[in-house]
Amino acid sequence: MTKVNPFEDTLGRLKNLTKHCKDPAVKFSETDLVLLSSPKRTLIVNFPVKMKDGTIRVINGYRVQYNDARGPTKGGIRFHPHVDIDEVKALALWMTLKTAVLDLPYGGAKGGITIDTKSTSTDDLERISREFIRQIHNFVGPTKDIPAPDVYTNAQVMAWMLDEYEKIKGEKAPGMLTGKPIELGGSLGRDIATAQGAAYVFREAADAYDLKPNATVAVQGFGNAGMNIAKILAGWGYKIVALSDSKGGIYNDNGFNVEEVNAFKEKNGSLVDFPKAKKVTNEELLLLNVDVLVPAALENQITKENAAKIKAKMILEVANGPVTSEADAILHKNDVVVLPDILTNAGGVTVSYFEWVQNNQGYYWTEQEVLDKLEKKMTAAFKEVHELVKRLDIDHRTAAYIVAINRIIEAEKKRGNISSEEKVK
Ligand code: NAD
Repeated sequence: MTKVNPFEDTLGRLKNLTKHCKDPAVKFSETDLVLLSSPKRTLIVNFPVKMKDGTIRVINGYRVQYNDARGPTKGGIRFHPHVDIDEVKALALWMTLKTAVLDLPYGGAKGGITIDTKSTSTDDLERISREFIRQIHNFVGPTKDIPAPDVYTNAQVMAWMLDEYEKIKGEKAPGMLTGKPIELGGSLGRDIATAQGAAYVFREAADAYDLKPNATVAVQGFGNAGMNIAKILAGWGYKIVALSDSKGGIYNDNGFNVEEVNAFKEKNGSLVDFPKAKKVTNEELLLLNVDVLVPAALENQITKENAAKIKAKMILEVANGPVTSEADAILHKNDVVVLPDILTNAGGVTVSYFEWVQNNQGYYWTEQEVLDKLEKKMTAAFKEVHELVKRLDIDHRTAAYIVAINRIIEAEKKRGNISSEEKVK
């Protein structure tokens, strides 16, 4: 499979938007987009860490603050062996767009450490997490840049990072990051927020496109996002016929009991040997004859090489960047509805925002309050994007990009970073 640079690919998407600039719904010009063609700030750190066995390892870490016109930057920290600067830049740009589509008072950022967590002990992961914060503590903060978990990081990693930050600063600062354990100021509902938010988007889209109630679903990736969306959709009566993790996938046309698969994975480390299922590869899973495909693992899964072979009618992008721009064009031509990452998986950052609000006011909400507020935010964002889809006869990603960039450019204009028409007059 050809490797697509996710950052260059997204810049290409921005460039493509300019053909819509004449429409009154589009509030930016081609030149305005220059401001979004590179990140505002990038920090790359290479730092030695003494491991538990006494050896010293040099670790590469990144933090990119892409755009901060609308507020402090916000975005997760990923631990993965393939993390590089272009991936982190793309993820930071997507975060900028995501917070704007949801109309959260944030800009966008992302961080990453190039590391294989599976071959690193918990002790060493703690040392690396703490040292990373020692390296970047002046770059982040509750009113500056607010990290969160992402692939292969979780509430425990956030707890180590917060603890290290508070020790350095000599004060409590729970709003410095989100996705924390509840005991340290985390929000109820944050653990399922990405999946729950995606489920609300899916529910609206299923209604808009008359999807049948017992439609079949394949989910790629069985982590926080993938496992929870599978569980929620199964609970709503959809048939989850295929699931996968990094080791491979499983298929059963009668549908899976997701709780059972989860228990099996927890016991055995992977779901691949789940009994009463046919084995499929991650590549085969994408091409199954299902109604809905949910990529919930990594980017660049659907490319120009396999897009024409996709049989699903709807793709719910729970992962960030699973569909490349070339694949998008093929899917759009084939009438496949793609619900884009910057809208679909925004439930995580939305509840992260709620967590930060609760930290700032020192007053905590019930899970039901959190989920009710999430539902309102997600459905409003879907409706706004879907209206534009119908009005301009465009795909949902293009519409979501327009909604987001309108807001970002408007904020830049108000700050005087881009000349507005009124100013020119
Ligand atoms: P996670 O670490 O909890 O789980 C990742 C899952 O993907 C694991 O099941 C792993 O086995 C699987 N996986 C890894 N490589 C794979 C491969 N090559 N093929 C198939 N499966 C593979 O991560 P997560 O938090 O669930 O994140 C998954 C995706 O959702 C990422 O793209 C992430 O950026 C996105 N996302 C997550 C959140 C969140 O709040 N968790 C929010 C927004 C977006």
